[in-house]
Amino acid sequence: MSMMDSDKVETMIAPPSPARRRAIQLVDSIKKGLFVIGTALLIFVCARNSIHWHIQNFWGASGNFWQKCWQGIHVNVFGENDLLIGVVGTLVVTIGTFWLANIGLVFLEVTGKPKALLKYKIQEDKKVPVDKEKLKKAVWLVIFNQTVLGIPFVYIAFHIMKWRGCTFRAEDLPTFHWTLFELIIFSLVEEIFFYYSHRMLHHRLIYKHIHKVHHEWTAPIGVISIYAHPVEHVFSNLIPPALGPIFMGSHLASAWMWFCIALLSTTVAHCGYHFPLLPSPEAHDYHHFKFNQNYGVLGVLDRLHGTDNQFRASKQYQRHILLLTLAPLTEQIPDSPKKKPE
Ligand SMILES: [Zn+2]
Ligand SMILES: [Zn+2]
Repeated sequence: MSMMDSDKVETMIAPPSPARRRAIQLVDSIKKGLFVIGTALLIFVCARNSIHWHIQNFWGASGNFWQKCWQGIHVNVFGENDLLIGVVGTLVVTIGTFWLANIGLVFLEVTGKPKALLKYKIQEDKKVPVDKEKLKKAVWLVIFNQTVLGIPFVYIAFHIMKWRGCTFRAEDLPTFHWTLFELIIFSLVEEIFFYYSHRMLHHRLIYKHIHKVHHEWTAPIGVISIYAHPVEHVFSNLIPPALGPIFMGSHLASAWMWFCIALLSTTVAHCGYHFPLLPSPEAHDYHHFKFNQNYGVLGVLDRLHGTDNQFRASKQYQRHILLLTLAPLTEQIPDSPKKKPE
């Protein structure tokens, strides 16, 4: 073999450089993203007419219905007082949604009942019933975050929203298409701000002072979604979801809808159970289990930065789907048997 040939062989078998690996990963992510968007678009185009008809029926034709509902809230409940609906209304809706979603989950953690639900537990070692003292401490911090930090935050955000031209009147309610578009923007804005603030919180100089509190729970439960150091609560939990509606100058109704979706989604992500028909909580549960994987909400930035590589090679990733049957995924895709000590 000539000198040149042996050089060639070496280049062929040499592992790609980190820069090249990152480039391959990026191309791979873009290809996958295009595939998902392409498929969604194709389905949408094919089903467009019938989807449109149903939406028009539900939203368009019943536009009057939604207007009347909002009018009822704005005029009858809050007497057309913008400050009252903007601050008190937002607090009641967000705190109410959080506890409505969590009360049943807390009952399940404290009593271990209904027993039939325990089979959907993600981490086999997670203790049920949960340590009551630990839970009590968590609930107190959650209530502190929702009130002592939440009330002034909503008050300030209300004034910023007013300044941005956000409206509260029933006549200004957005159309269905606009609301959908806004929701996409809200989740993208949240993904960017949550991902990077969360990654910063994992920096070794910051982690032990702030984010360690949230990670006391390696097998989280629903209320842990806002069990966080006050600094983290403001920068990672309050600001990222509020930025979208502020940026878009949205109607208060769109903001409420978005806050409810965000609260329900983070509760599911932390609940520790992979229930049928609910979004998969595997990714964030894995973050609590492993610490250095899955920092984002949507997973887009984790894919781009490669902070989900370990997750993608795991059983949890295979289970990261919408469960459509009653059989738990831990049974359908069981863990590999543990190696016996020699
Ligand atoms: Zn978490
Ligand atoms: Zn974290």
